[in-house]
Amino acid sequence: MIVTDRNPRSILAEVFGYSEFRGEQEAIIEHVIAGGDAVVLMPTGGGKSLCYQIPAIAREGTGIVLSPLVALMHDQVMALRLAGVRAGALNSSLAPKERREVEAAYLSGELDVLYLAPEQLASAGSRTVELLKRGRIALFAIDEAHCVSQWGHDFRPDYLKLGALAEVWPDVPRIALTATATPATHREITERLHLESARHFVSSFDRSNISYSIVPKQNVRAQLLSFIRDEHQGEAGIVYALSRKRVEQTASALRDAGINAVAYHAGMAAEARLEAQTRFLREDGVVVVATIAFGMGIDKPDVRFVAHIDLPKSVEGYYQETGRAGRDGLPSAAWMAYGLADVVQQRQFIEASDGDQAAKANQSRHLDHMLALCESVTCRRKYLLEYFGEREIADQCGNCDVCLEPPKLWDATVPAQMLLSTVIRTQKERGRTYAAGQHIDVLRGVQSDRVAQVRLDELSTWNIGSEWSATQWRGVVRHLVATGLLEARGEWGVLWPSEAAKPVLRGEAQVHMREEVIARKASRSSGGG
Ligand code: ADP
Ligand code: ZN
Repeated sequence: MIVTDRNPRSILAEVFGYSEFRGEQEAIIEHVIAGGDAVVLMPTGGGKSLCYQIPAIAREGTGIVLSPLVALMHDQVMALRLAGVRAGALNSSLAPKERREVEAAYLSGELDVLYLAPEQLASAGSRTVELLKRGRIALFAIDEAHCVSQWGHDFRPDYLKLGALAEVWPDVPRIALTATATPATHREITERLHLESARHFVSSFDRSNISYSIVPKQNVRAQLLSFIRDEHQGEAGIVYALSRKRVEQTASALRDAGINAVAYHAGMAAEARLEAQTRFLREDGVVVVATIAFGMGIDKPDVRFVAHIDLPKSVEGYYQETGRAGRDGLPSAAWMAYGLADVVQQRQFIEASDGDQAAKANQSRHLDHMLALCESVTCRRKYLLEYFGEREIADQCGNCDVCLEPPKLWDATVPAQMLLSTVIRTQKERGRTYAAGQHIDVLRGVQSDRVAQVRLDELSTWNIGSEWSATQWRGVVRHLVATGLLEARGEWGVLWPSEAAKPVLRGEAQVHMREEVIARKASRSSGGG
């Protein structure tokens, strides 16, 4: 774009057609235009793209945008071109001729924005690195920067190489952006991308117009149907399910019930997918039933609900998906049904995945946090915001199921004490630390070589908790980890008691859990779903 006026506000109005910046956009944009590095944490729908697109237009040279979503690059480039921005993309799906054209445009300074897949920069001497060196670079934008986090929910090894940008182009400003950063991920982004001297822009992750509710799963199809009929008849929404088969079955069940529903998953032909997407965007009140593949880069402001009929793998994923509701700021709902079977299924997925032990332990940890959200007896929003590192959150948001209809609780102080003493005693009396499984075996009196070797069966808590199943105990562990009485440390999630556990052990504080976690008689209340 040949801009005469490089003022960010003029670009916002003339190119993008907006009159006001949102949140911290303006501060971020001015900082990057002035040549500063930035780390931007902003929720889905917050408006991250403009934070690098406007500086890319305003500064001399081309803004290089690194994005893992090759499938979306084409759409992004088209949208920018429609707005008059000179944009291009380089990725492995390009034909040689197209590639040469984009390269030539870059070298002659005719591009404002160039999208690149990170693997293009994978080796220092790569063709793309050599190409970039011969042109003029306005900035590097590292989108979905949480992909650099090895222990995050969406690690991509190619992202690790992006740390080298700081050495090769020390004078080019870099901006890393993500919608899913926990404090640990934030730290990893900063370190691995060498953004130590960057300015950090952390927006609140609160989406106050979204109401959260999580219900125990019974007959999920009937539950979903009445949720849509009673609360969202005729409105646009997204229903997330884990498998293609469930997507198709659910979409057809909804259609049978008179709801305008379409299926969307990676196994469908490209045309069918495009048609589903187009209907969702253009028609009123379409419900898309989809696997997680749907929604990234789709910008529909009036999605009134996001429903999960299967458990997401991580809080990060859940928050990103629910964040697609209510971008217009109007009241919207995030609804989920979850049952014991989800937990079992997700554990099996992790077990069967091809990662090493450490990767599995990491996935397990993400799952545990997701489960803790499901079982939370405190405000859902507070849990979510604290997960993303926000402090001083009000105890009650007044806009989630827990706040609106407090759950039935059961006094689980005794099992909590049993578990806490087991953890403390194995540490103090045997000098050992273990993850949840071994502690549960002690409580349930399960023999093994290790038990014999370390004489765990001589601990005073050996076999005192056999009236509860291992699954129920895992529920207790999850609850205690979620509420900070226990910490799950390191790659293996080794359990440690925290200071907060003391009053519980002394009988000065009680622990309440949802009835369905550990009611006395085993699991009838957990639902069949
Ligand atoms: P994110 O990448 O953070 O999820 P996007 O950059 O896709 O968000 O922006 C979300 C939506 O908000 C887009 O439709 C975008 O055009 C719109 N948007 C961004 N900034 C503004 C603004 N200052 N004024 C109005 N709309 C905006
Ligand atoms: Zn609440």
